[in-house]
Amino acid sequence: MTRTAVWFQHNLRIAGNSALEWALHRAQQYNSEIILFYLYSSIDEAPWQRGAASSWWLQQSLTSLKHDLSQRGLVLNLVRGSASDTIPRLIEQYNIDAISWQRNYEPHLAHRDQQLAEQLVQYGITLNMTNDGLLPDPGQLMTQKGTPYRVFTPFYRQLRKGLLYKTDQAESTTKPHAVVSVTLYESLTLEALNLLTPHPWQHKLARHHQPGEQSAHQQLQRFINERLIDYPTRRDIPAAEATSTLSASLHFGEISAQQILHILQPIIEHGNPPQASATEVFLRQLIWREFARYILWHFPNSAEESMDNRFDTSFWNFDEQRMQCWQRGETGVSIIDAGMQQLWQTGIMHNRVRMLAASYLTKNLAQPWQHGASWFWNTLVDADLANNSMGWQWVAGSGVDAAPYFRIFNPEIQAKKFDADGHYQHKWLNDFSRPATTLVEIADSRREAMQRYQDHIKRNHYK
Ligand SMILES: Cc1cc2nc3c(=O)[nH]c(=O)nc-3n(C[C@H](O)[C@H](O)[C@H](O)COP(=O)(O)OP(=O)(O)OC[C@H]3O[C@@H](n4cnc5c(N)ncnc54)[C@H](O)[C@@H]3O)c2cc1C
Repeated sequence: MTRTAVWFQHNLRIAGNSALEWALHRAQQYNSEIILFYLYSSIDEAPWQRGAASSWWLQQSLTSLKHDLSQRGLVLNLVRGSASDTIPRLIEQYNIDAISWQRNYEPHLAHRDQQLAEQLVQYGITLNMTNDGLLPDPGQLMTQKGTPYRVFTPFYRQLRKGLLYKTDQAESTTKPHAVVSVTLYESLTLEALNLLTPHPWQHKLARHHQPGEQSAHQQLQRFINERLIDYPTRRDIPAAEATSTLSASLHFGEISAQQILHILQPIIEHGNPPQASATEVFLRQLIWREFARYILWHFPNSAEESMDNRFDTSFWNFDEQRMQCWQRGETGVSIIDAGMQQLWQTGIMHNRVRMLAASYLTKNLAQPWQHGASWFWNTLVDADLANNSMGWQWVAGSGVDAAPYFRIFNPEIQAKKFDADGHYQHKWLNDFSRPATTLVEIADSRREAMQRYQDHIKRNHYK
């Protein structure tokens, strides 16, 4: 008896999961058994071991997937170990002759997968690597010069022009099949995966989020019914709760960009003009996500190093105390502190406030963007290497298509514009424990940031 395996990674769902569909189809065709597994390895994740908030989400998402699969008579096995050791061993031990997984675009994981794929092909194993994103393949979309896009708008136009949902996978929901789903001897309990830290901080996340495939679909429906029409005008208002809140679900693949596109397509084609144009604005954000993956794929060092090498380590002035004040939401600037509190309380921060918090840290406080990105990495439930690195470098002025360094947000003016009645700030700040003074004065620190930039450019003879 041969067996077909599915390695679940960032595709923790059943519906519209092309890796799973392929394996179930093959198992039926060849009358083979099926092995579904999730492999956890902090060694493989290195140097980007999942942070505490994201690990909590993963644990919940796996719980939900395991349950949903079991309702369909399928077993999700949980295994620990590096892919390069564990997968060849499983293949041999359980007589697996085909394996399917969703492609990774994060450089360290893509590299690992490529090496593994070469090894498996040598063993004569049938491989199926899928992609449920909107971007067919990062190598396919290039400028006319044959170089990778570095600016979002032409990338967006190019991708949007040819954007099609894949009808074969978008809506398909796996029905119970007459295939046997194998339980591995070494399958662990979720607790034994040790995803949670003993810190009680993770537990409060449950008050704000419900990970899992069903919940992601409910959220999407609620967004379409109640929020989409006002998305273009209200998505920048942090108190409005006007966005989809799907980022963590997209990161873990509880829902795919292809599935969302499939649901949005009729609104774009047949909705009234305001609905159609609001949907386009939302779709554009999904394409930002594809752009982030594309950038990380073509510029694999961009999660660690400034893409614009004028912003090397000598540009920033690391200061432990400043970092801590920012992390704890004790800078004295209300909108920044409210954002940092929202992050600490819920594992999420509104996009506009992420931009302000990142700008304040890198410009007013002169801290390296990598340190801010690392704090977000640990505390965001939606921590995503591509989106986080691109977001930080965009704000710091050191990335592709970045805001120029000298365009420095004034958090107080921004607060008046986007939180005019102060609802967001009041919600997240405890007025009794507010610092009496601000860590730095906004106007002075802005001037210093500009001066630092000019001195650095001059000293290093940069243009
Ligand atoms: C400094 C900084 C760090 C960030 N770190 C992350 C991160 O670790 N993980 C993450 O998913 N997003 C990150 N973002 C992007 C953005 O803030 C979040 O995706 C968004 O706030 C999630 O809320 P939502 O799902 O309601 O978004 P919506 O407005 O409903 O947008 C829908 C989806 O589009 C994608 N998207 C939206 N905005 C962006 C963007 N600017 N860049 C890339 N994709 C986008 C997300 O997948 C999002 O779920 C960061 C932005 C900044 C400025």
